[in-house]
Amino acid sequence: MTAGPRSSELYARACRLMPAGVNSPVRAFRSVGGEPIFYAEASGCRFTDADGRSFIDYVGSWGPLILGHAHPAVIEAVRTAAAKGTSYGAPCVEEVELAELVVDTVPFLEMVRFVSSGTEAVMSAVRLARGVTGRDAIVKFTGCYHGHADYLLVAAGSGLATFGTPSSAGVPASSAAHTLLLPLADEAAFRRLMTEHGGEIAAVIIEGVPANNGLLPQTPEFVAALREECTRHGSMLIFDEVITGFRLGADGAAGLYGIEPDLATYGKIIGGGMPVGAYGGKRAHMQQLAPLGPVYQAGTLSGNPVAMAAGAATLRTLLADDGAIWARLEHLGDRLERGIRGVFDAHGLGWTVVRRGSILWLALQDGPTPVTAECIHPDAAGRYAKLHSALLDRGVYLAPSAYEVTFVSAAHDEAVIDQTIAAFDEAVESQR
Ligand SMILES: *Cc1c(COP(=O)(O)O)cnc(C)c1O
Repeated sequence: MTAGPRSSELYARACRLMPAGVNSPVRAFRSVGGEPIFYAEASGCRFTDADGRSFIDYVGSWGPLILGHAHPAVIEAVRTAAAKGTSYGAPCVEEVELAELVVDTVPFLEMVRFVSSGTEAVMSAVRLARGVTGRDAIVKFTGCYHGHADYLLVAAGSGLATFGTPSSAGVPASSAAHTLLLPLADEAAFRRLMTEHGGEIAAVIIEGVPANNGLLPQTPEFVAALREECTRHGSMLIFDEVITGFRLGADGAAGLYGIEPDLATYGKIIGGGMPVGAYGGKRAHMQQLAPLGPVYQAGTLSGNPVAMAAGAATLRTLLADDGAIWARLEHLGDRLERGIRGVFDAHGLGWTVVRRGSILWLALQDGPTPVTAECIHPDAAGRYAKLHSALLDRGVYLAPSAYEVTFVSAAHDEAVIDQTIAAFDEAVESQR
């Protein structure tokens, strides 16, 4: 589908003013072709574009909107907070309330600090781990995204376990030099690295369930090996739960695996659609932060009252009724997964759907389900581009990149899921 005339006009204006007309690269539709569709307004599981067309949204602002767009409780919280002032740069009741919700819900968290984005949360957690351990090196897994800090924009060099090389221009080789890259799902390679270098490693960081390069769930054994080796060598295990925190249940991926990381990072859902990040862990570690300890980290808008209120309203809604909402998300996710698989099967395609709770990913390739970034077939992106466009024609908006996941929200319902499955059936048929 092509963008409508009003979207197109806005895009032309935007392109003159902002690189590729966007403020974050994937939004530009480069990987699926065509022009981006401008949102005009959104409510529940749907949005209306600048041309007045309605779509079922499966992006949900890339994860934050687990309750759907413009949830009444969140909008009311934002209105109430904003009417009392948009920023204080001083302590406020809203940040205490959100901190209580987060710390009282996640068993291994004793303290948190709020920042303004997931990127900032990860940067700060890594600095804290380095400060606590007095070590510089960190271990990262290929295919995991942890925001855009210099030393995390790294790609593997040659060989199995290698020091990273910058994956972006503008990143000095010296910034990447302390980041060790490993493939996911390779326990032996990880253990070997820790045996050889464990004493130099400040932190091992992994996405709770890697969801930024396809959805690549790891085995409990692999995750347990991370915990074991970190404990053995005095390295800190950081779970990046920016996507999975409060999406896979009250205690995120850590709860799913029954593993306690030393530090965890949050973002997306805990801001309820406002700019928020957070990191937390044990009291003894968190008290190493300034002004109590030597690790510096600060933020003008950190703990912003409007953002804190939006996050608190989101978490309160999620936690109501004993977490019934996550059971509902599981049910809706399962229904969508089965429906799409059914369509692929009916058309004799060997493609599959990978899912954890309300996070789904379309693996448009034959053979075993990918568990590492290296297992994703490059042709899948071309297939995804065609499918994406055919679905837009039918009013279904998926993320404009084959490597991005699909989010179901609590505002989706069975009828909308079934409508989506019917659209998939037509979209796939139209490609024959
Ligand atoms: C989105 C994301 C980040 C970065 O968060 P921003 O708010 O975009 O800076 C970090 N880690 C993971 C796992 C993410 O999905």
